[in-house]
Amino acid sequence: MESLIGRRIGVLDDGFVEVVDCMGDDAAIVQAARVSYGEGTKRVTEDRGLIRYLMRHRHTTPFEMCEIKLHVRTTMDCWRQWIRHRTANVNEHSTRYSVAIDSAQRTAPGQWRLQSKDNRQGSEGSLSAERGEHFSGREAEIIASTRQVYDERLAAGIAREQARKDLPLSTYTEAYWKIDLHNLLHFLELRMEPHAQYEIRQYAEAIGFQIVSQWVPLTWEAFLDYRLGAMSLSRTEIGLLSLLHAGRGVEAVEEMQVAGWLQREGDICKPSREAREFAAKLQRLGLSPPWQT
Ligand SMILES: Cc1cc2nc3c(=O)[nH]c(=O)nc-3n(C[C@H](O)[C@H](O)[C@H](O)COP(=O)(O)OP(=O)(O)OC[C@H]3O[C@@H](n4cnc5c(N)ncnc54)[C@H](O)[C@@H]3O)c2cc1C
Repeated sequence: MESLIGRRIGVLDDGFVEVVDCMGDDAAIVQAARVSYGEGTKRVTEDRGLIRYLMRHRHTTPFEMCEIKLHVRTTMDCWRQWIRHRTANVNEHSTRYSVAIDSAQRTAPGQWRLQSKDNRQGSEGSLSAERGEHFSGREAEIIASTRQVYDERLAAGIAREQARKDLPLSTYTEAYWKIDLHNLLHFLELRMEPHAQYEIRQYAEAIGFQIVSQWVPLTWEAFLDYRLGAMSLSRTEIGLLSLLHAGRGVEAVEEMQVAGWLQREGDICKPSREAREFAAKLQRLGLSPPWQT
């Protein structure tokens, strides 16, 4: 971990994550857990087993023995999502006190994502680079003109707290962000997930794969197994899976119709959002949704 302190990991076009300080490691988690479980597990393999047990059973407090302080630079719109995680201690660059950072995130012509048809909060596919060229050009104009107006206001003596009001959300901000490992893993679980917005996912992946994996490797491995790479099944889904396993796919489809998961329109079954989420889980298990077979 020593080697990570002070190293900047670049994210997006001008953002970064940098470890300022950290406390604890896998051993500190094990040590704290032994207070409740007693002495006796000394070898690395036993430490690994204990950490995996804690993660599996959501015995979370030993993970709170580790803390990390990051210096982050991210866009204001990304920060708006980030700051929703209330369990961190934060101190952000003040644009009342200081001049706003003169940098805004730019989108390359091939990076304009299209609105998802299924998920109102998501995106899928992207605009062709040819069409994106226009929007990247317009973006550059907005960034330049809003900054020019901002600088003009400052030059005229207008207060920084008011001059900033028209800066775009793509403007970078910086903060110190301190959080314990338990709450950091919660953040990573939510923000590394494919439904999280692409931009914040880039930060979460940088923190997860490049920092946490090296800081607490045993915890990271357990997190990938039991949290990030795991999936939960509802009671209904378990019932449907049992029916599928028993070769009773027709009954499963009937149950899904009763539950409102499937709407029959002529010969076609239209799956609800929950049914599509179940289909994605089935796909991970190598199974086809019963209404498609
Ligand atoms: C894909 C995605 C889409 C989202 N969409 C929206 C949206 O459309 N609109 C929107 O407003 N937000 C949205 N959010 C933000 C989301 O609702 C949460 O606010 C955010 O993810 C922080 O989660 P959290 O509260 O669990 O985390 P934290 O604030 O870090 O809290 C961690 C845990 O501590 C506990 N906790 C913390 N504070 C309290 C409290 N005051 N009372 C009780 N328990 C507490 C809870 O158990 C909580 O899970 C979205 C998040 C994601 C990941």
